[in-house]
Amino acid sequence: MMKHPYPLRVGSHMGISGGFARVPKETVEEVGGNAFQIFNHSPRFWKVRDPEPADVELFRQQMLHFGIQPQDALVHSSYLINLAGPKQEVYEQSIDLMIREVQICDRLSLPYLNVHPGSHLGTGEALGIERVRDALHRIFEATPNSPVMILLEGVSQKGGNIGYRIPQIGTIIDQVDPQYRPRLGYCYDTCHGFDSGYDITTPDGVKELMAELDGHLGWDLLKMIHLNDSKYPLGANKDRHENIGKGTIGIDGFSHFFSYPEFHSVPWLLETPGDNADHHQDLMLIREIMHRIDPSDIWDWRIAVDH
Ligand code: ZN
Ligand code: ZN
Ligand code: ZN
Repeated sequence: MMKHPYPLRVGSHMGISGGFARVPKETVEEVGGNAFQIFNHSPRFWKVRDPEPADVELFRQQMLHFGIQPQDALVHSSYLINLAGPKQEVYEQSIDLMIREVQICDRLSLPYLNVHPGSHLGTGEALGIERVRDALHRIFEATPNSPVMILLEGVSQKGGNIGYRIPQIGTIIDQVDPQYRPRLGYCYDTCHGFDSGYDITTPDGVKELMAELDGHLGWDLLKMIHLNDSKYPLGANKDRHENIGKGTIGIDGFSHFFSYPEFHSVPWLLETPGDNADHHQDLMLIREIMHRIDPSDIWDWRIAVDH
């Protein structure tokens, strides 16, 4: 068994209702992780408040104190955003909100902003992809000095969603002006992927996923993995997340997926049902599975903190 090239980084989506500053501590002490995902404002509203400067300052201190690297934190964009749709008002609002979210990522010094490419709402994939490309150009033009990278997330094929297979993500990136391409990356979601036919429970399925990552994106573009089990079977396109081991991917499926060190170098972030305690359970199970794969390896990611 090959040694993990890096210590694993794992965590879950965290709530921000108590402020950004609480997230690093809750990640370590309640979830037992060393990575996390957050929204950077309330995701159900177009209107965005600037984060409190004191909260931002304390957040930065807490990141250092709890030893969480900014590159192991992901910001997920608002669910309202659709960069692929035909409705001009929503499109303009989406671009404006993405620009605001990039600016808040800058304030928080977090380098990755995750977005669903969007839904073409019946106008067709080719047109949808053009809309996404144009939107990305405008977002990058409006934030020329930002180091924030936008990660396009693989989604489920439902409701006209674009980006349910890796070649589509590749097409979007290929259409973006080369000067902006370094600001784009990819986030693979195991539930969405399973929905779209990537069967990570089998060697052939993982081979297919790897071949597409390699051939249509390049491994360097894979920056994050959303680690979710699925309530529905392979190819169902339902987008219903389940706790690790309790869904159709299951413990055996994840044991298989985890046995490929190629996926160990990027953070694994849970978007599974429940609260911090439930996510802790999910993480303990992941840890147990990893331990079974290779007990001798560096799999104890829990950070030692003295306080
Ligand atoms: Zn998402
Ligand atoms: Zn996801
Ligand atoms: Zn989902």
